[in-house]
Amino acid sequence: MAENQKTSSLADPGALRELLTRHGFQFSKAMGQNFLINPSVCPRMAAACGAEECVGVLEIGPGVGVLTWELAQVAKKVVAIELDSRLFPVLEETLRGQGNVEIVQGDVLKLDLHALIQEKFGGGPVCVCANLPYYITSPVIMGLLESGLPLRSLTVLVQKEAAQRLCAPPGTRECGTVSVSVQYHSQPELLFQVGRGSFLPPPKVDSAVLRLQMRASPPVQVADEAFFFRVARGAFSQRRKTAANAVSAALGVPKPRVQQALLAAGAKENARAEQLTMEQFAALSNALRGAQ
Ligand code: SAM
Repeated sequence: MAENQKTSSLADPGALRELLTRHGFQFSKAMGQNFLINPSVCPRMAAACGAEECVGVLEIGPGVGVLTWELAQVAKKVVAIELDSRLFPVLEETLRGQGNVEIVQGDVLKLDLHALIQEKFGGGPVCVCANLPYYITSPVIMGLLESGLPLRSLTVLVQKEAAQRLCAPPGTRECGTVSVSVQYHSQPELLFQVGRGSFLPPPKVDSAVLRLQMRASPPVQVADEAFFFRVARGAFSQRRKTAANAVSAALGVPKPRVQQALLAAGAKENARAEQLTMEQFAALSNALRGAQ
């Protein structure tokens, strides 16, 4: 019970300010430090992240440990990567008594996560749960999806616009290269929205929690994965052009050849990238393979 009181007080703006002042801590905008002060968000994220199906949970950016504490209640083990070493004495205080939590100092984009998961989780499987620093949302999510790491799912709090883009199915207006990659590697689901007032300091935009459930196998068959993503990137590289023009320019394939492949894939020859489905991207890349 006492531990529960500690968590809710961590999500309380007054108590958080007192804690940070006592440690002489100043927020760093450059490190995307917007700490959660809405007590309902972390328990919901912890409940949704699927900790019970994993050897443990990997958190990115624990801050003062408000989500870490909740994860420690549901996971066998929590390893949290924090870049800002000024937070270490704070975390030592807030996570005291949580024997299943380990903090690792480092930049999530630079650490060898294969080695870390092997060492800390015996090879996994692992769930990722994080309130991500907004300035590295896409590289972190894309990096994790494409890493081949033994991950079950990613449950992440990101800016609402990013969440919508990441979850947009191919064939819809908001879709982009990242949506194709997300759908290829996972099944995305927007879980709930989190208002800007839920953070200290408040960011300029609202946020949302999304869960990406990793797929056991891709939803479409592609002969060459790297080429499939080059075609998708090329198609979205010039959004105002037709997919045939954009792909032709990006890959150096004659436009009639791309148009022919689009028609064979069941798309219109003047379709734009956001009108193409996953299956059509797969058929297009399979047809153009070796055409350069
Ligand atoms: N989890 C806390 C919460 O919900 O209140 C803090 C979230 S805050 C949005 C992002 C956290 O990520 C900060 O603690 C920040 O220092 C940390 N961070 C920023 N860049 C990082 C990086 N490259 N690698 C690891 N942690 C990073």
